[in-house]
Amino acid sequence: MLVSGETERIIGRAKRGDELDEEDVAYLYDYADLKELGREARKVADSISGNRVSFVSNLILNYTNICNVRCKFCAFYRTGKEEDSYSWTEDQVVEEIGKYYGKFGIRQLLIQGGVNPALDADYFYAIFRRIRKEFPSLGIHGLSTSEISFFSRKAKLSVEAFLEKLRESGLETIPGAGGEIFDSEIRVQLGRPRDSGKEWLSIMETAHRMGIKTSSTMMYGHVEESVHKARHLLSILALQKKYHGFLSFTPWNFEPGNTELERAGKVKFRAGGEDVLRNIAIARIVFGKELPVIQSSWLTNGIEMGQLAVMFGANDWGGTIYDEKVIPATGRDVGNLRKETIITSLRNIGMVPVERDNLYRTVEIFQ
Ligand code: SF4
Repeated sequence: MLVSGETERIIGRAKRGDELDEEDVAYLYDYADLKELGREARKVADSISGNRVSFVSNLILNYTNICNVRCKFCAFYRTGKEEDSYSWTEDQVVEEIGKYYGKFGIRQLLIQGGVNPALDADYFYAIFRRIRKEFPSLGIHGLSTSEISFFSRKAKLSVEAFLEKLRESGLETIPGAGGEIFDSEIRVQLGRPRDSGKEWLSIMETAHRMGIKTSSTMMYGHVEESVHKARHLLSILALQKKYHGFLSFTPWNFEPGNTELERAGKVKFRAGGEDVLRNIAIARIVFGKELPVIQSSWLTNGIEMGQLAVMFGANDWGGTIYDEKVIPATGRDVGNLRKETIITSLRNIGMVPVERDNLYRTVEIFQ
């Protein structure tokens, strides 16, 4: 129910560092005025990073599309029987990286794929070691929690032991993929294992305890309600307060094209711009200085929405994202965004672009 002055009260509490509860956050989703949210979220971003917005020159490498998880929201996976199923060898991975590394000054490699049961832990150790050797300034940002869970079990290792071996082989950070919405009932509807939300949090906690930094994400705009998003954000915040292991948070809007959820008529359209901006602004307000980096999700929304996301509280553009294959599988083609386009897009809205590396260290400031 809309209550006069309630949005102001909730935002005021967040700014003072008081803990919000799920009703507070759900209220912001359901009733807060979007312009008020955006104004306040941008103020929080200004207090953290001023008018600087970072981005990274990166390559996303989806080394296989064969997957035994088969999420209902995924248009990318194949069972292995289709003609367009693929799985790259170590040499193919290295060759693909070589096409971009020197030419575009790539600093981050986001490497993840389906959960392909034909592969094993040794495949990743070998690939990471080779990448480290041949592309020394690349930070390896690798493997979703689904891959970590499956391949650690296949290798009969604890998650901690598997992560340690990956780190020794060259893994630097872990992406937030697989976060979706943590709630068990929602995950079942998405075709995910019931406890996979808890597992995501547990794997991230293990990584943070070991000193491995990770990203965090939320995928919205499917079958969830406001309260599920509120709980999701608060779970990430609670873990962040323990180890400060999350380097960033990205809210993604679900792309229904070519997915089982779309075919079943459960989700017909993608979330609109209002929803995209609301999710950015609420995340910025809820996380405050505890989780300083909020990424614009330009990949699914395009450059103009990326610019608006910055005005609504995002302070990292994300990456140049060469070679990504998951979003194009939904039928959307946003193209690869070259570094110069990002710099111009940020300057056009009065921001100072800052190129960063995988660990958010400054590479160059474009005054
Ligand atoms: S989202 Fe990832 S785990 Fe789920 S089906 Fe697609 S590739 Fe597999």
